Amino acid sequence: MLVAAAAGIAPLSAVEPLAVRGGKMVGVESGEPRALHGVSLAWHHFADKYYNREVISTLHSTWGVDVVRAAIGVELENCYDADPERAMRALRSAVDAAVEEDCYVVADWHCHHIRTAEAVEFFRTVASEYGHLPNLIYEIYNEPEYDTWDEVKAYAEQVIAAIREIDPDNVIIVGCPHWDQDVDIVADSPIEGFDNLIYSFHFYADTHRQANMDRCDYALSKGLPLIISECGAMDHLGGGVINYEWWGRWVDWARRNSVGWIAWSLSDKVETCSMLRHGAPTDGEWSLDDLKDWSLLVISSLKRERNIDNEK
Ligand code: MG
Repeated sequence: MLVAAAAGIAPLSAVEPLAVRGGKMVGVESGEPRALHGVSLAWHHFADKYYNREVISTLHSTWGVDVVRAAIGVELENCYDADPERAMRALRSAVDAAVEEDCYVVADWHCHHIRTAEAVEFFRTVASEYGHLPNLIYEIYNEPEYDTWDEVKAYAEQVIAAIREIDPDNVIIVGCPHWDQDVDIVADSPIEGFDNLIYSFHFYADTHRQANMDRCDYALSKGLPLIISECGAMDHLGGGVINYEWWGRWVDWARRNSVGWIAWSLSDKVETCSMLRHGAPTDGEWSLDDLKDWSLLVISSLKRERNIDNEK
């Protein structure tokens, strides 16, 4: 039985070139705000079995995502540092599938430390191969841990410059210090001199609550464009219980502010934040038994976004 949880979902808007204007991500052709909603694939070094056309087709057509995120691990065992060919194979598989499905895709440098030379090399390749396609969004630094904003900013300026030599226009997501929490600090000193930059905020709803929302409100009040490129309803380690109340508050906040969100993550690892039961098929043909509480919540939240869009 295929999952029918997304039955009745409104049609998704077609992919169009994106830009960042007036503090929001917008469609260049429609001129309308485009708050994307989707799912992040998990770290490629253990979840690249799900980096395929069939999975992305199910996510797009049945779950109703308009963006998927390819989390290309860098520093851990079997990641980009040790095996760049496997990393690039996973990335290309996800991006090619998203293009075929008419869906946006984030090329995420899933790193927690500054590795400028490696990032420049990676993003030059990505920009050369995919920078001409409207589907592609760059994410140049998943989650800085202990780097200051001055350090992250200097890194970002080098990587952005390398991308812009090849691709003048696709949107680039910039990470913020302390696991994408310090958006208020970034808002006081954003990067200048480049177009189509947007900054990432990450929340895990059982950990991050009103104080984090206040920092996001401050950032938006200063005109900083935000995207939630990763989020969950559980604690910041991806475990514990699902906090339905604060998940609801965050998605309502995102909706009010035209901020998109991408839920973490599509994997069968045994943890609250992995959406599939251990051993779930890799071809996207999931039964209801393959889906955990977290994926059911994400699917219902995606459906709600679509239906609100459709009622406008
Ligand atoms: Mg381009």
